[in-house]
Amino acid sequence: MICVPVTGKGEAALEEFRQAQKAADIVELRLDLIGQCDLKRIAHAKKKPVIVTCRPKSQGGNYLGSDKHRFGILMDAIEFLGAEFVDVELGTPRKVTKSLLGCCAKGAIISYHDFKKTPKDLLRIYRRIAASGANVVKIAVMANSINDNLKAFEVLSAAESEDRKAVVFCMGPLGSISRILYRKFGGFMTYASLAQGKEAAPGQLTAAEMRGVYRADRLSAETKLLGVVGSPEKHSSSPYMFNAAYKALNINAVHVKFPVKDVGSFVKGFRPLVYGLAVTIPHKETIIPFLDELDGTARAIGAVNTVVKLGNGRLKGYNTDLIGGMNALKKKTMVRGREVVIHGAGGAARAMAYGIAKEGGKLTILNRTLGKAEELAKKYGCSHGGLDKLGKIKYDILINCTSLGMKGELPVGTNLLRQGTTVMDLVYLKRGETRLVEEAEAKGCITVSGREVLVLQALDQFRMWTGKKAPEKVMREALKNADA
Ligand code: NAP
Repeated sequence: MICVPVTGKGEAALEEFRQAQKAADIVELRLDLIGQCDLKRIAHAKKKPVIVTCRPKSQGGNYLGSDKHRFGILMDAIEFLGAEFVDVELGTPRKVTKSLLGCCAKGAIISYHDFKKTPKDLLRIYRRIAASGANVVKIAVMANSINDNLKAFEVLSAAESEDRKAVVFCMGPLGSISRILYRKFGGFMTYASLAQGKEAAPGQLTAAEMRGVYRADRLSAETKLLGVVGSPEKHSSSPYMFNAAYKALNINAVHVKFPVKDVGSFVKGFRPLVYGLAVTIPHKETIIPFLDELDGTARAIGAVNTVVKLGNGRLKGYNTDLIGGMNALKKKTMVRGREVVIHGAGGAARAMAYGIAKEGGKLTILNRTLGKAEELAKKYGCSHGGLDKLGKIKYDILINCTSLGMKGELPVGTNLLRQGTTVMDLVYLKRGETRLVEEAEAKGCITVSGREVLVLQALDQFRMWTGKKAPEKVMREALKNADA
């Protein structure tokens, strides 16, 4: 069940309530945020079940008055609206909960909030709430690491085994997966916003995203969990592509974003849960020691962008950047015998260097950190240097493998772009082309976009995870729609 909170002040609440009912299975009226409103008109418009709550400031809400008055507001709302649920905080006197409960058709949600952290003893908190007469246990805590979500999943699983309705999730950008995956772990419902900017709590996704991109309301215990592991700051369009592909081929799987700082702890914690991983910046090299096996090409490259869980539960690393990058490049130009400059010496550069060398291109590696350029150049017996060297050498193909360009910056000066050469950018943006691709096109270069690499390497990832041919058209379309 997806619950959409209504938070608009006064008159706006009615219109928001109408819209929320279209997007939600159940609507929460946040009376502390709405303030004075016409409950009669809201009652008249009511078509879906309703939760009423009036959160005090001390619990992250906006209500500043006395508890007595607050409980009165809740009682009025329950009676006017015929509310199915009332949400009160853990610690509310039993007498009050009982009298509120007496008027609600489905009962009381008793909730616990921590806006700073995910407490270690979440199970103990769950037991306290369960013992307090709750019909639904609700725990909302802040995630400070991706592994905090595991504590929420543990509590949800415990509640499911006791046949108790529970809503347990982590807030903040690191907690979004617990909102998406609630059904996989037996959760009763999840909260989603009506639209971007209307979030009632940090980390809420929109109801449209929950249903349209992640199919959160359709997931089950059997749903295979996959996702892209990247830094918390990195955007990724891969959930759009893969979830659309799973849907098109009727595969019970979901692809989420795992914002990860400590890749070792992540792999250790999520190993039993995940079925496959895409790996992106900055973890392509650092993930290797935490995997059980490496494919020969990934080993030779020294970077992994795909992890597959084998039948025996072991995690095996592969590299599909190589195929994606080389196929995209070879669609536009010949590589054999050409002078190729790679700018960067990280995971993407390692894959491209391997591919170019194998194809018979003549490599030069340029990088900010000279030691890394030197190390990579040694591997392929080629020259290296800093970016300043670019103006002094002749090249046919220039490949940007740095992360420069994600914020609209140029990885090389436009004066260094030469008409007739091929310019390839591994970087891609959520919308439109990178500045490097635009400037190179303006200079009369042949261009290869990072977006094309993304699609081509994803086709291979899909095949590795599912054993099926990827629905390319669907994936390209989903990527285009993600931009809209
Ligand atoms: P990585 O391993 O973290 O390497 C980053 C590279 O960028 C390093 O060479 C680093 O230089 C350089 N760099 C970072 N900031 C810089 C700065 N301010 N000035 C100069 N150089 C800088 O990352 P990666 O995995 O190779 O990925 C690189 C980029 O390619 C990312 O944007 C990623 O999204 C993109 N990519 C796209 C696809 C696709 O499918 N389109 C596939 C793979 C990668 P130092 O060594 O000096 O730190």
